[in-house]
Amino acid sequence: MLVDSHCHLDFPDLAGRVDDALALMRENEVTHALCVSVTLQEFPQVRALAERYPQLYASVGVHPDYDNVPQVTEQELVTLASHPRVIAIGETGLDHYRIKGGAEWQRERFRTHIRAARSSGKPLIIHMRDAAEDTLRIMREEKASEVGGVMHCYTGTWETAQAAMDLGFCISFSGIVTFKNAAALREVARKVPLKRMLIETDSPFLAPVPYRGKTNEPGLVRYVADEIARLKGISLDEVAAATSSNFFRLFRHAASEKR
Ligand SMILES: [Zn+2]
Ligand SMILES: [Zn+2]
Repeated sequence: MLVDSHCHLDFPDLAGRVDDALALMRENEVTHALCVSVTLQEFPQVRALAERYPQLYASVGVHPDYDNVPQVTEQELVTLASHPRVIAIGETGLDHYRIKGGAEWQRERFRTHIRAARSSGKPLIIHMRDAAEDTLRIMREEKASEVGGVMHCYTGTWETAQAAMDLGFCISFSGIVTFKNAAALREVARKVPLKRMLIETDSPFLAPVPYRGKTNEPGLVRYVADEIARLKGISLDEVAAATSSNFFRLFRHAASEKR
């Protein structure tokens, strides 16, 4: 069995065809997927997916790229995270690629999410792009290691991955590992120990080869697992077993409820 640790099934490309997406999950033996929230306005749709389908879970958070939405408070996040199908806080983090050099509101929003994760005991989903040092610094200052979580859609260096793992975080690889120009990331994936690894689609984006450029969906996480297996010289079954048990260990609130 495989688990997609990060998808956006509520996004327009996928929202109208959730039943098809669930069918492909079944076909590819993807038993669960985590639907990740990016704004509080859209959170009700994400939560509704997790309420309706036992294969789906939800997270609550406001993505670092959304600069025209109200700042969320720790209390709002903690309240929304108390729902039994909400198993994580995020996605949150820093993106100095989209918002050049970073912005103070983005850092404040990240701090708020880490505090909410610590209060609620639900792990963090961290989005980090061109912002490794700043992200690690804030993770340390806000004691993110007390709650842990995942560095999602990881594209950073091995050194940064090590630093995140030292803080108790897992590293999640997406379809990017299958891309032709991602040799450096494949080296990182080869080195990250299987017991700290998750896999994801970040669908509808980043469809893995041989679907690159098409609409991604959770069932295609199988191709990410295939590539990890190839890189590590192990079987798909080993990758599936390890990444799925890592998922349920990390998000233990969900694991206790639904297995
Ligand atoms: Zn992201
Ligand atoms: Zn995402």
